[in-house]
Amino acid sequence: MRYQIYALHNYRQIPQIDKLSEEDKFNIEVVGSVLPFKTNNYVVDELIDWDNYKEDPIFILNFPQKNMLDEADFNHMAKLIKSNADKATIKEEANIIREKLNPHPAGQLEYNVPELNGVKLTGVQHKYNETMLFFPAQGQTCHAYCTFCFRWPQFTNMDEMKFAMKEIESVIAYLKEHTEITDVLITGGDPMVMKGKIIDHYLTSLIEANIPHLRNIRIGSKTLGFWPYRYLTDEDAEVVLNAFKKVTDAGLSLAFMAHFNHYRELETETVQNAIKKIRATGAQIRTQSPLLNNINAKPEIWSKMWQKQVQLGLIPYYMFIARDTGAQKYFGVTLADAWEIFQKAYTRVSGICRTVRGPSMSCTPGKVRIIGITEVKGEKSFVLEFIQGRNSNWVARPFFAKYSAKALWMDDLKPAFNQEEFFFEEELSDMFLG
Ligand code: SF4
Repeated sequence: MRYQIYALHNYRQIPQIDKLSEEDKFNIEVVGSVLPFKTNNYVVDELIDWDNYKEDPIFILNFPQKNMLDEADFNHMAKLIKSNADKATIKEEANIIREKLNPHPAGQLEYNVPELNGVKLTGVQHKYNETMLFFPAQGQTCHAYCTFCFRWPQFTNMDEMKFAMKEIESVIAYLKEHTEITDVLITGGDPMVMKGKIIDHYLTSLIEANIPHLRNIRIGSKTLGFWPYRYLTDEDAEVVLNAFKKVTDAGLSLAFMAHFNHYRELETETVQNAIKKIRATGAQIRTQSPLLNNINAKPEIWSKMWQKQVQLGLIPYYMFIARDTGAQKYFGVTLADAWEIFQKAYTRVSGICRTVRGPSMSCTPGKVRIIGITEVKGEKSFVLEFIQGRNSNWVARPFFAKYSAKALWMDDLKPAFNQEEFFFEEELSDMFLG
């Protein structure tokens, strides 16, 4: 299958686009001039139900929607576009709106970039002891863009791909020095947009470096949702699959961290064949998704998705809370609702689906999971725990936050029981203030 991209400049060529009203097309242009927009022929031909596009989760996942911007910002951009403002003005005004959308949440740019011999490794993050993230330069885009993406600034040229690097040698040197690292997560964008020979080069280099403490290579990817032909008909599909097999043949585990947002993405024959190909290399596929209003904020969607995943041999891994960036107002689900959706979905599936963890927030101190909502001596509170922490001693220690029906993110929470701060806060500020 030939890969065909559609973006703002050519989306009117999508064969099904005339199913949309003129107003909806204009809305795409307005919002798409602020937030990134890219889709492809697999998504439009095999996933979206065009007869029901307004409600269709995959359409909303991929096509900019009017309410993703504040009304005033939307109207401002609409006016500029209607008056045929020049490109530079549109770009300038779009950047002003983008700055209001918290483009760099969770201190990623400032806090997590390590150094090797006094030089910053700009394509690496090392936030948690055991896991290093590697952002290869060639993997910083995706086969399509999710409208909720928290990495949206890098697709709008705000970040100029500051994270990305090509030097696998520096990655390996850093790994050798850090014996606490057992896992490398290759991420993006989507690293599976890289050419097969580059994927092979990175994976082979990691294998041949023979690092005794390296046990697991993880690859974060949405290709199974957005372009499963990557493993079927792309001309270098076999090169990619062989590279995966080299990893497992070398005695390392290869965890393919697949990003699925809705069970509909698991239903095509194409994706099911691609899953079989990846699993045949010895890789394990684990799945993750944020919980998203307007796309998947119902327990029955999650229970059906986890059941289908397990049936196809995948391992449900994470339910995330949508990050405090971009169109969070449109996608955000309150923490209270998130826990309820998780709990209801979790109770409807069998034990082998309950490998999933969540709902979890990836925030500055670590990954914080909502264990539940409870009442102690008349005070209603959230029970929370770290799944991952900047200090691993924080992990798996329950702590309490005052209940708030409106809270959407960790920053909205206050400690319960008249505590002045959460148990980790002093140590966290020492980490950053030195
Ligand atoms: S695939 Fe991942 S990085 Fe790419 S747009 Fe979607 S969420 Fe963002």
